[in-house]
Amino acid sequence: MVLNGVGVGRSVAVGPTLRMPEPLAEPIDEVATEPQPEASARVQAALAAVSADLEARGEKAGGQAQDVLNAQALMAADPTIVEDIEARLGDGRTAERAVFEAYAGFRDLLVQMGGYMAERATDLDDVSRRVIAHLRGVPAPGIPESDAPFILVAHDLAPADTALLDLGKVLGLITREGGPTSHTAILARSKSIPAIVGVEGAENIVDGTFVVLDAAAGTVDTSPSDGDVQDARQRLAERASLAAAPLTPGALADGTAIPLLANLGSADGAAEALAAGAEGVGLFRTEFLFLDASVAPTVDEQFVEYQRMLRAFVGKKVVVRVLDAGADKPLSFLNDAPEENPALGLRGIRALRASEQILIDQLTALARAEEAVNGAGVLGAGRHGSGAADGGAGRAAGAGAAAGAPGAGRVDLWVMAPMVADADDSEYFTTVARELGIQVAGVMAEVPSSALVADQIFETADFVSIGTNDLTQYTLAADRLLGSVANLQDPWHPAVLRLVGMLGRAGLDAGKPVGVCGEAAADPLLAVVLVGLGVTSLSMTPAAIADVRAELARHTTAEAEALARAALKATSASRARIAVTRLAAANAVG
Ligand code: PEP
Ligand code: MG
Repeated sequence: MVLNGVGVGRSVAVGPTLRMPEPLAEPIDEVATEPQPEASARVQAALAAVSADLEARGEKAGGQAQDVLNAQALMAADPTIVEDIEARLGDGRTAERAVFEAYAGFRDLLVQMGGYMAERATDLDDVSRRVIAHLRGVPAPGIPESDAPFILVAHDLAPADTALLDLGKVLGLITREGGPTSHTAILARSKSIPAIVGVEGAENIVDGTFVVLDAAAGTVDTSPSDGDVQDARQRLAERASLAAAPLTPGALADGTAIPLLANLGSADGAAEALAAGAEGVGLFRTEFLFLDASVAPTVDEQFVEYQRMLRAFVGKKVVVRVLDAGADKPLSFLNDAPEENPALGLRGIRALRASEQILIDQLTALARAEEAVNGAGVLGAGRHGSGAADGGAGRAAGAGAAAGAPGAGRVDLWVMAPMVADADDSEYFTTVARELGIQVAGVMAEVPSSALVADQIFETADFVSIGTNDLTQYTLAADRLLGSVANLQDPWHPAVLRLVGMLGRAGLDAGKPVGVCGEAAADPLLAVVLVGLGVTSLSMTPAAIADVRAELARHTTAEAEALARAALKATSASRARIAVTRLAAANAVG
């Protein structure tokens, strides 16, 4: 039987399944017999122990996982929650019940907030279970122990579990819940563990079932034939040799350079990105630095963070996105008014236009950081100038700019605005940015209108970077956080690709670069299609770079254009994927 879900990554996994233990039973609401001071002391000890344990796990895991676990450790020690638990103990609840109710209350609050905050509700549930397990004196819920490697099946995974997965043991993940932006998906992607999330029927997979998990296809085959298993093993062997391939710059088979850049949320990910061969940063999501801030960060605070990132990529290009607040990433200092439809509300550049001083501070901090790294003389000619970032035309221009143009000891800073709708947004942002000393100012194409008027946008923007996550959401009118419409959240859809094609054509006509920094760039075959549509650089999670590099090298420019034409002609996302997969197999040169 084949079960379907949302695949994370490109790899396959073959092996027996093992299920996560069922979650702890909910503590019964009964009258407490334990005196309150003792219950309170036990709860304090449990909270401290869980917080310390999560921090220790974070330290062991490092990177992005450490941020997630540290945030959970803070939740465990949060004084508001502790106060709430104490109040419930005072009302006569048992220690376990008081903990359960307090965390459940905060969980409901997060869910009501929606978007990014709602996705953190699972983290809070996990902390609650860990504290209750500690109070009960039973082991914390977690990954099952096994001597042999296995594919883990779970309802959903908490970050604490995903972060510490023993990569030698856990071959892959299958979860019943979760969408493409759930923590399970994000961490699995960053650790290169093949995963399928949102699998209906996962609950029926019996321990020890031998399965083939195909992340690229989004399928779990629970009764594979010998041939299927052999094919999957062959793909695993191919991937192993891919990982050992040299870290060459991204290029098509005919030598056309397509720089491969990294998507990062802070300089902490720089080493990993460079180790994967990233040729720079194509999307620095600055809002990730300030998700917990209740007041706008100062110029000095921002300067420190930006300088750190720019120094890590000296000799390369760094594309910084100014704060993209709203919907899935609310920043309380930028979006505080409740909205019916936050995804269609005052977000991205709209929120910054409404709070211009925040934009001015950020651009000032960025210009200062560039000056600090490149030296004071850099902000001279061109500072308020024409802004032609690359001089030359189209593909060659984009490639040239990213392939070491800044020279030794200098960084090439590009700054872009999110959620730009039209020429007015573009003119506003690029004017303010240049006035404040930013030499290369561009925009993100995430709203379909930006593609329809791309020629007008290029009159002021030095470059465009396509955010396919939001572009898909808005083109198909499918909330990117909603599992029930995940099938429509597919950047292979010809409607999305036609918009990409319009942007590519406009970039070529204007002689300016067009990158992609949405998840679509991390899908190797789709990346080739994007290039065929005129995209000049690709930015992605560092873990995806090796796959994309290998796929680009299999196709010439003419072949990429033929794949793009096949995708554009298809009548659905799945048909586009199938048509391109077939044609690519016939084309492949290596
Ligand atoms: C996008 O929308 O594709 C994008 C890159 O921005 P984010 O995912 O941060 O919204
Ligand atoms: Mg976006």
